[in-house]
Amino acid sequence: MTNTAAETHILGFAEALDVVLGHSAGVRAPDAERVTLLAARGRVLAKDLAADRDQPPFNRATRDGFAVRAAEWSAGKTLRVIGQVRAGEFWGGGALASGCAVEIMTGAAVPPGVDAVAMIEHAELNGDEVSAAAGRQLRAGENVVPRGSEARQSAVLLAAGTEIGAAEIALAAACGSTELAVYRRPVVAIVATGDELVEVDQTPEMHQIRNSNGYALAAMVETAGGAARRLAIAVDTLGDVRARIAEGMTSDLLLLSGGVSAGKYDLVEEVLAEFGAEFFFTGVRMQPGKPVVFGRIRNSENKQERTTEILSVAQNDERSQDELSRVAYRWTYFFGLPGNPVSTQVTFHCFVEPILRAMCGVGVDGPKFVQATLGEDVRGKTGLTRVLPARLTFDLVRPKVRLVGWQGSGDLAANGQANCYAVLPDGHDLRAGDVITVLLR
Ligand code: AMP
Ligand code: MG
Repeated sequence: MTNTAAETHILGFAEALDVVLGHSAGVRAPDAERVTLLAARGRVLAKDLAADRDQPPFNRATRDGFAVRAAEWSAGKTLRVIGQVRAGEFWGGGALASGCAVEIMTGAAVPPGVDAVAMIEHAELNGDEVSAAAGRQLRAGENVVPRGSEARQSAVLLAAGTEIGAAEIALAAACGSTELAVYRRPVVAIVATGDELVEVDQTPEMHQIRNSNGYALAAMVETAGGAARRLAIAVDTLGDVRARIAEGMTSDLLLLSGGVSAGKYDLVEEVLAEFGAEFFFTGVRMQPGKPVVFGRIRNSENKQERTTEILSVAQNDERSQDELSRVAYRWTYFFGLPGNPVSTQVTFHCFVEPILRAMCGVGVDGPKFVQATLGEDVRGKTGLTRVLPARLTFDLVRPKVRLVGWQGSGDLAANGQANCYAVLPDGHDLRAGDVITVLLR
């Protein structure tokens, strides 16, 4: 076993994004499972949803009024009202004869022979006779949605890969789907590293820090569509870091926090290298988040042997051995995220989220960048892209963004006052009123 540290490979911000998107394009589609309709909310459709019948299924009146022949609806001409059809009813009286009208309600099927519905507000009713109000005319087709005009039976309404929200659930319900096929949520292992860390239900000593990153990462993973698998904290020893990585690499994606800086006890990269990791970058010229690491470990049989060996050296964890034996396949991507809590979150949104979303089956899409008007002057900083906690307010034109004052990348309190990150390009002084990129979270 060699302790080859990863070679340093620092990229610019945009380059690093490109690298992640390149890999996102190559991730395999997850397996599908069936869930009940409402349980599909927030999931990703795994099978095209097709219309089970024409939509609308009949020529539908969109107004309350009178079903008529449009050409007969003009001032001075009187039509005889021969009946009524309500929503949920079907007109059994055959094709509408010339000179006749049928009273009709919104949502009802128009009788055969009818080509338009005159709005009740535009009609003058006199006993069983109706005529157009002064100046009112009708075009053929007015206030009628023809059968199949929204969708033909068997037409694809939602393609696989569509995220399911209320609009999609409505459509599926309209097609009679009580269940939907959705992609399995990728399992994301989360490992927090650090000698100073304690779990949130423990009382920290003065010099200890609660493992907030484990929770932040779990929440971001679940929001993005993954299933979070929080592993035990790894202390900064080779043995502990090895054991946790071996355990985590059996998941679909492995996230580590902390231990990626240049310190003596920052062991994450070294251990990943032992596992034969391929590194795509070991740092990004950005602030916060500079030490972020991205790579993958091959879970092939060979590497699995190696993993098992490393693991058994580290400790005898039966559950991990068991999981390892199940996964003699493919690559596991990993990120080594900086431990500072704001850095962890920023780098998650920039780099982890896009590939995780791709693993969820939604295809390749960048981080959630939008444009906003800067609300204040900001001095530029050369050599890196800054991604700073900021507050976005919305209006009809374009959102406005202001930075949140902060004490640096450990400042969770400031981050809690923010609702986005302002992306400040390398080197530029910015002025109030400039349009800048904002990263939504
Ligand atoms: P590191 O990246 O390991 O050098 O850690 C940088 C800073 O982030 C240190 O002040 C750590 O105490 C803090 N930190 C590391 N991991 C966590 C975590 N899981 N939760 C909260 N803070 C952390
Ligand atoms: Mg540390």
